[in-house]
Amino acid sequence: MLEMLEEAQQKWLARVQAFVTSELAPLEAGLPEDAEAEVPSELRRAVVAAARKAGFYGAFQPVAMGGSALPALERILLIETLARANLRVARFAIGPGPGMLAGVSGALRARYLDPLLAGEKRSALAITEPPDPNARTRAERREGVLHITGTKSYVTGGADADFYLVLVGLDDVASERRAFVIVDRDSPGLSIVRRFSSLDGSHHVELRFEGVVVPDGQLLPEAPSGPSRAQAGIAEMRLQVAARATGGAGFALDHTRARLLEPRGDSRLADDAGARLRLADMGLRLYAARSALYRAARALPRGEDARNHAIAAKILCTENAVQVVASAIALGGGRALVVGHPLERLHREMQALLLTEGASDVLRQSLAKGVLEHGFTQL
Ligand SMILES: Cc1cc2nc3c(=O)[nH]c(=O)nc-3n(C[C@H](O)[C@H](O)[C@H](O)COP(=O)(O)OP(=O)(O)OC[C@H]3O[C@@H](n4cnc5c(N)ncnc54)[C@H](O)[C@@H]3O)c2cc1C
Repeated sequence: MLEMLEEAQQKWLARVQAFVTSELAPLEAGLPEDAEAEVPSELRRAVVAAARKAGFYGAFQPVAMGGSALPALERILLIETLARANLRVARFAIGPGPGMLAGVSGALRARYLDPLLAGEKRSALAITEPPDPNARTRAERREGVLHITGTKSYVTGGADADFYLVLVGLDDVASERRAFVIVDRDSPGLSIVRRFSSLDGSHHVELRFEGVVVPDGQLLPEAPSGPSRAQAGIAEMRLQVAARATGGAGFALDHTRARLLEPRGDSRLADDAGARLRLADMGLRLYAARSALYRAARALPRGEDARNHAIAAKILCTENAVQVVASAIALGGGRALVVGHPLERLHREMQALLLTEGASDVLRQSLAKGVLEHGFTQL
């Protein structure tokens, strides 16, 4: 049994695999040749319709809002399996989840969460800042409103977002207190100062806040006890990155297995001892990464330690995926590096995952803190 999945989870996995083969693969076949071209909107709509019908679209959405609110491990299996297919259309099969907005109520829910889940509004996460300490994003509270100043340097999807979830320092400059605040894109004093793309093909913006005023009700409420909602949201996002990486490594292994078994005249690469050792090494990395991923997914609903488990899985899965894809390219030969080849595209995506949701070495520092100062003993 794969990594000791329970029977219901095995069945879920088989359902996702069948969806990939019967629905997504034929839709992928209808894509334009150019691997960098946008997926046409009618194909996106077809993917969303197929995913809704099959019951995957609402996997991250709460039941009260029409979703299926899957348990953590099933969510991770879904992302990993879609990523393992390495299809360009797959990313449209899962509808938006609440993310950081999980649990907000009243006006915040009506204005941001409900439209986000319905696909009527888009959000983007604004955390990363330029190194200059003067550019730090701070929110000063005066007479019931927040005055925000500073810069955010790397906001994915920021050009198309209707609102941003912005990490701000609170109170005085010396304070360590930080929290997320929701800021509408069209707020006076907020501007997009730069647009750029990264090697994985995703698009980003730099934002400048010059005395942006928002009501302090826009600050995301903290949970009364236990890890903050923001921490739980970040742990979930890191685990999703780990699942994408593990799926990508799985694709690279599948591809390499087929490559080694291909005939080359009267022999095969599979007859070469060096190629066999490399394949085994790829498999070992994937085995270790997936074990870490599922362990962390099981820990996620348990709260406190979820943060450290998610960090460990994110580091292990992304770093191993980069190595596995590099080996697949080494065995794939020159054609694997031709622009648009599935491994070439995967290589760029995996490199980006090393930094997204926290760079490996920064996360190592957090893990050390977990071990030394917060009693994390689960390594
Ligand atoms: C594809 C992509 C999408 C992204 N999307 C977003 C987004 O939507 N929102 C967002 O806010 N950010 C986003 N980012 C930014 C990403 O989170 C940062 O690039 C990452 O956290 C590293 O921060 P930095 O670029 O400021 O590098 P720096 O902080 O300058 O760090 C550079 C390197 O120095 C080392 N380093 C730095 N600090 C430490 C430390 N304390 N301990 C050990 N080593 C250290 C690490 O090796 C690190 O990689 C995205 C990045 C990529 C590549």
